[in-house]
Amino acid sequence: MHLIVAEKNISARRIAQILAEGHKVVEKKDAGVSTYSFGDTTTVGLRGHVVEVDFEPGYENWRSEQYTPRSLIDARTIKVPTEKRIVALLQKLSRHADRVTIATDFDTEGELIGKEAYELIRAVNKNVKVDRSRFSAITPQEIKSAFANTTDLDFALASAGEARQSIDLMWGASLTRFISLAARRGGNNILSVGRVQSPTLSMIVDREKEIEKFVPEKYWQLGLLTEKTGEQIEARHTNGRFKDQKAAELARDRTREPLVVTEVKEGTKQDRSPSPFDTTTFIVAAARLGYSAANAMRIAEELYMNGYISYPRTDNTVYPASLDLNGVLATLRNSPFRKDVEWTIAHRRPEPTRGKKSTTDHPPIHPAGVATKEGIGDEAFRIYELVLRRFLATLAPDALWKTLKINFDASGEFYTTTGGNLLEPGWHAVYPFSEAKETILPGFIVGEKLPIRKVSLDEKETMPPARYTQSKLIQRMEELGLGTKSTRHEVIAKLVSRKYVEGTPLRPTLVGRVVTEALEHHADAITRPDMTQTIESHMQQIKESKRTRDDVIKESRSMLHAAFDQLEANEQVIGDDIRNRTAEELNLGKCPVCGGTLAIKHLRGSTQFIGCSRYPECTFNIGLPVTMWGWAVRTDDICEKHHLHFVRLVRKGARPWDIGCPLCHHISSNTESLTEIPSMTEALLEKARSRHIYTVAEIARSEPDRLSTALELAPDAAQKLKTEAECVLEKLRRRSECRKFMRNHLIPRKGRSYSKIMTALKESGVSDLAGLAKADPVTLQKAGIGESEAHDLLTEARITYNGQLLKEIGIPAVSLKKYLAAGIISPDEFVSTTPENLSKKTGMSAGTVNRHVALVCEYLHRPIPAKVPAAKVARGKKELLTIKGLTSSVAEKLAGSGILNGDALLAADAKQVSVKTGIDADKIRTFQALLKKKRETAIIQI
Ligand SMILES: [Zn+2]
Ligand SMILES: [Zn+2]
Repeated sequence: MHLIVAEKNISARRIAQILAEGHKVVEKKDAGVSTYSFGDTTTVGLRGHVVEVDFEPGYENWRSEQYTPRSLIDARTIKVPTEKRIVALLQKLSRHADRVTIATDFDTEGELIGKEAYELIRAVNKNVKVDRSRFSAITPQEIKSAFANTTDLDFALASAGEARQSIDLMWGASLTRFISLAARRGGNNILSVGRVQSPTLSMIVDREKEIEKFVPEKYWQLGLLTEKTGEQIEARHTNGRFKDQKAAELARDRTREPLVVTEVKEGTKQDRSPSPFDTTTFIVAAARLGYSAANAMRIAEELYMNGYISYPRTDNTVYPASLDLNGVLATLRNSPFRKDVEWTIAHRRPEPTRGKKSTTDHPPIHPAGVATKEGIGDEAFRIYELVLRRFLATLAPDALWKTLKINFDASGEFYTTTGGNLLEPGWHAVYPFSEAKETILPGFIVGEKLPIRKVSLDEKETMPPARYTQSKLIQRMEELGLGTKSTRHEVIAKLVSRKYVEGTPLRPTLVGRVVTEALEHHADAITRPDMTQTIESHMQQIKESKRTRDDVIKESRSMLHAAFDQLEANEQVIGDDIRNRTAEELNLGKCPVCGGTLAIKHLRGSTQFIGCSRYPECTFNIGLPVTMWGWAVRTDDICEKHHLHFVRLVRKGARPWDIGCPLCHHISSNTESLTEIPSMTEALLEKARSRHIYTVAEIARSEPDRLSTALELAPDAAQKLKTEAECVLEKLRRRSECRKFMRNHLIPRKGRSYSKIMTALKESGVSDLAGLAKADPVTLQKAGIGESEAHDLLTEARITYNGQLLKEIGIPAVSLKKYLAAGIISPDEFVSTTPENLSKKTGMSAGTVNRHVALVCEYLHRPIPAKVPAAKVARGKKELLTIKGLTSSVAEKLAGSGILNGDALLAADAKQVSVKTGIDADKIRTFQALLKKKRETAIIQI
C-alpha cells in the first residue's frame, strides 16, 4: 500500500481526489479520523503537529525547590502525542505500507511536522521507503508534478524547526515562571514572557513612550481660494509651514490681488504596478479591507487547502520561472472575474513586476483555482478577490498620470497648486484596492490674472508618531527579523489575549508596560531584538547544514543563563516593582469619606465594585456592573472635581464602556431616585452629598439620630425622611425586579436598550411587575416591543406577578401549579368562577378549593361565596335544562360563570356572560326570554 500523509484532513481529501484522476475515492473513518483510498493508495491528514515538546516529568510543580525556573534551561525534553487517535491510526496504516509519501506543507514548520510523522512511522516499520512531495498549491497540475518528482525529507530544514521549538519552549517556560513567581502571580494571572513576544511588546511600549514624551509644536498654514471658469481652486503658500505666527499673519495681510499665474509646469508620472504578494504585503492589503492579521491568515490558509490560492506563507516577491503564468490566467478565465482577466491578457506587460525579495521555497501568493461567492462565502471571497486582482495587477501595465503644477504671485506672496489626472489607468483598471485620486485643474495661461476669493490662515500642531496597527507592526517585525512569516500574526494575537496590549491601533496595558520595563531594567537582552535576530540567523545556518541543532541550542542556553544571572540577582526588586506598579493600576485616588485609597476590587465570580482601603472602618463603596458588561479598569483621565481616575469597562470583541469618574457617575445615577423622596429638597440633596450620603439606601438604613445630626434636621423630620426613603427603596426594588424580568424575557437585539424600554414604560405609568401585568399590549408596543413579543411578555408578566401575589396570599406552590395548568392565573379569575368549577378543573377537593377561595376573597375584600348544597345545584341545573336549546354542555359553561339556576340566568347581563362563557349574547337573551315566558305561562296555568 502507498500511504500519503498530508498536513490536514482537508488537504488529504483534495490530494486523493486529484491523484485518483476520476476513479472513485472511498472515505473511511477510524476512531473519527478519515482516510481516503483509491486503488492501492490511501491518504490521511494530520492536524498540524500531532506531538508536542515538553519537559521530562518532574518539572510541573512551579514552586519546587529542586526544579527552579533556571533549571528549565537545561531540562531534558520529550515528545508527547497530542493527537492520540491520529498517531494511532498513522502507525496502524504504516505497518502495512510499502511506501510512504510525506505531503505536508512546504516550509520549515511543514518539514518538522513531516519529520514527526516520519519518526512515528519508523517506530513501527523500520524498512518502509519514505519520500517527500513538495508543492506550493493544491491544484491538479502542482500535485501531479510533485508526486511524479518526490525527493527525500530535508532533515536539516526540520532540524531548524526543532531547534526553534526547543529554544522557544525553554525561553518561554523559564522566564515566564521566573517573572510570575517573582511577582507572586499564578493561575490565570501568570505573566508570560517569550523570545519573540517580549521584544515585540517592547516596541509597542517604546512607541507609547515616544508619544507621551512628544511635545506638539504649533505651526501655521496659509492658503487661498481662487476661481477659474466657475471652478474653485485651492492654492498653498510656497513657504509651507510657518513656525512664526507673526510672519504668517504678515504674509496673509500682504496677499493681495491681482493673483498672477507665473508658471504652468506640465509633466507625466509613471505609476508602477504593484509587486507580487508575500505574506507581509498580503496582510497589509487585507488590513485595509478590515481583516485582522490572524483572520486574514486563517482565511488564506483555508483558501490554500481548497486549492483556490497558492501557499500563503512566503517571503518571496518574485514569480519563479517555473510558475506557469499563462496557465494561471487560463484557469482564471472561468472565474467570476473573466472580464478583468481578459483585459489583463489583452494589455499584459512584457514582464511581470518583481519585488525586492526572491527566495526559492514558495512563489508569491497567487490565485490557483476558481472560487465563487456562493461556494465560499462573502468573507473568504473578498480575500480571494484581493489575491486574484493583485495577481492581475502584477501583469498589468503601469499607469500614467498627467501632472500639472501652477505657480501664482499674489503681490509678492507666492502660492502654488498641483493637479493630476490619469492618462492611462493601467493596473488601476483591475486593482481597485489602491485608490487613484485625480485632481483635475482647468487650463491656465502664464500671465493671466485671477481673483482671490478667500485667504485662510490655519493654526495646526505637529502630531506625535502613530501607534502601530497590526499590519504596521508585522512590517516592522519583518524589518527587524523578529519571528517568521508564519508566526508574526500569532505573536500579536498572543499579546492581545494576554492583556499586554489592547485596542486598534495597539497600545500597551499597564501590565504590559510594567513587565517590559522590569525586564528592560534588569535583563534587557530579553526585550531587545538582537538576541532573537541572532537566533534567526542560527536557524538559517542549520537549514544550510552549516551548524547543528544541538550546537545552536547550546549557545542559546548560555545566552539564557547569562540573562538569569542578572535576573536572579535582582529577583526581589523585579518582583516588588511589578507588584507595586500593577496594584497601582487599580487605584483610583483618595476616598472622599476617609482619605484612604479607593480601588477597583474584583471578587470571585462576576462581582466588581470600588471600595476603600480602610474597610471595614470605612464602608464607602460604589457599585459597578457585573463583569459580563466588561472588566473594570482605570484610565489615565482624572476627574477635576473629585481627583479620581476614570473607570472603563472593557470586553473582548465589544466597544469599551466608559463610566468616567466613578463618583460623578455614582452621584448622577442616584440623583433621580433621591429626588423621588418627597421631602428631599435641592438644598438637602446638596447637604447630603457634602456629608457623603449618595444613595436612597444609605438614608433608609441610617439611624434617625445620625441623619438628624448629619443633615441638621429636626428629629421628626429625620424620621420622616428615613421612612420615605424606605418606601422609595421598596419602589426601586420593584423597579429593578421589573427590569430583571425584561432582561430575562426579552431577547437581546442589536440597537435595543432595556433602559430605553423601561423609561418609555415608566412614562406610561408602568414601572413594576404589577403595572406590567395589568398593562395593555399597545403600551408595550409604544415602548418599542413588537406585537407578538408584547403579547408573550404580558402573558409571562401576568403569570409571574400573579403567581407571586397568590403565593403571598397563601396558596401553596403545588396547588398554584394546578391552578395555572387549568388557566386560572389571577385572583380575579379565582372569584369569577365557582368553587365547584375550580375543583372540577384542577382535580383538587372541594374543601381545599374552598379554603383557597376564602383566602383570595379576603385579600380582595370580597364576600366569601356561600357554599351551595349539591342537591340545590342539581335542582337548578334541571330547571335550566328545560329551556329549549340549552344543552347540558351549555349548562356547564353557565355554571362556570356562576349561573347555577334560572334566577341567576334571568338576573345576569347577557353581554357579560357571553364574554365569560363564549356563548353568543343573542343566544343567552333567547334563553332568558324563553325562561321568562315559561315562568309566566306557569303562573297563568296556576
Ligand atoms: Zn474610606
Ligand atoms: Zn467626579
